[in-house]
Amino acid sequence: MGDYKILKEKVPDFIKALDKFEVFAPVKKGDTVRFEKIDDPSRATLDFSNTNVPPKELMFPETETLFRYRVVSTEIEPKVPSDEEKRVVLGIRPCDAMAFSIVDRLFGWDFPDPYYQKRRENSILVGLACAEPCSNCFCTSLGGGPANEEPLDAILYDLGEFYYLKTITDKSEAFVSSAGDALESAGDSERAQATELAGSAEKKIKRTIKTEGIPEKLPSLYDHEFWTQYSNRCLGCGICTFLCPTCHCFDIQDEIEAFDGRRARMWDTCMFAEYTLHASGHNPRPTRKERTRNRISHKYSYFPTKFGVIACVGCGRCINFCPVNIDIIDVLQKSKEV
Ligand code: SF4
Ligand code: SF4
Repeated sequence: MGDYKILKEKVPDFIKALDKFEVFAPVKKGDTVRFEKIDDPSRATLDFSNTNVPPKELMFPETETLFRYRVVSTEIEPKVPSDEEKRVVLGIRPCDAMAFSIVDRLFGWDFPDPYYQKRRENSILVGLACAEPCSNCFCTSLGGGPANEEPLDAILYDLGEFYYLKTITDKSEAFVSSAGDALESAGDSERAQATELAGSAEKKIKRTIKTEGIPEKLPSLYDHEFWTQYSNRCLGCGICTFLCPTCHCFDIQDEIEAFDGRRARMWDTCMFAEYTLHASGHNPRPTRKERTRNRISHKYSYFPTKFGVIACVGCGRCINFCPVNIDIIDVLQKSKEV
């Protein structure tokens, strides 16, 4: 819709000008990059491959209070985010943005989730196109790409001295009009450079998987021994799910102190035995074999069967961070061959 550019030295001014929004952006701490609320614009970085923790935590926090209550009263104090909390999320990689359009289906399904939905509605998503994909990126196999726009409101391209900003939705106009002098207009030349950058990044993606047939095939492998080959190595640490931008399982707990209580939800993972442990002591997924099978089948068969889309965007985090090198592309490839 609109073409702009931001000189790199003006990025702090650009962030400062967005003061009517809460701004979230990647922040570097040692070797780790993670989204944080930006109070000091100099802390934000747009120079990173991808964040270690995906931005799903901005819509679906690791732990959040759903409501507070008093044990002696029937009144509750809901903690649903208000309409006023408008935010700009700056620097989302296209794969992580695409994960929102997958997770939206779940949180808008049988019981629409006002906590997630309110944050999504209140957020303007500004992507950052990839120039140098990581060695395990395979977004192009899942319908994405280094400059994929769905469901971004605007996207930035790093063109050396400046960022080219392309606005995509009407929602982005609110933040463009707030940015003032930090934005300059851009045109055909910048657009052409951005197209070139995206094309060159796409060629650098080395890993691929043809997903056709996988959702239909996986249920037939339910009792197959090939799951053991991978699950034998698994430590059950759960990092593959906690760092996955599309994983969305949670637990709900009540915490009570004297007469005051809160109901909170927190991330959980199907890679933990307790996740499916029944009160009777029975566990339908008693070993890592069943849990590994569930993780892969949920993403590549159960979710697409229910919602029509594979619940993986090919970000590669579960490969990069698995301490025993379990590689989802290998598992999927093997599932096609057995
Ligand atoms: S990251 Fe690797 S070891 Fe940890 S639970 Fe996942 S597959 Fe198992
Ligand atoms: S399953 Fe792995 S590659 Fe796919 S979205 Fe999750 S972390 Fe990324």
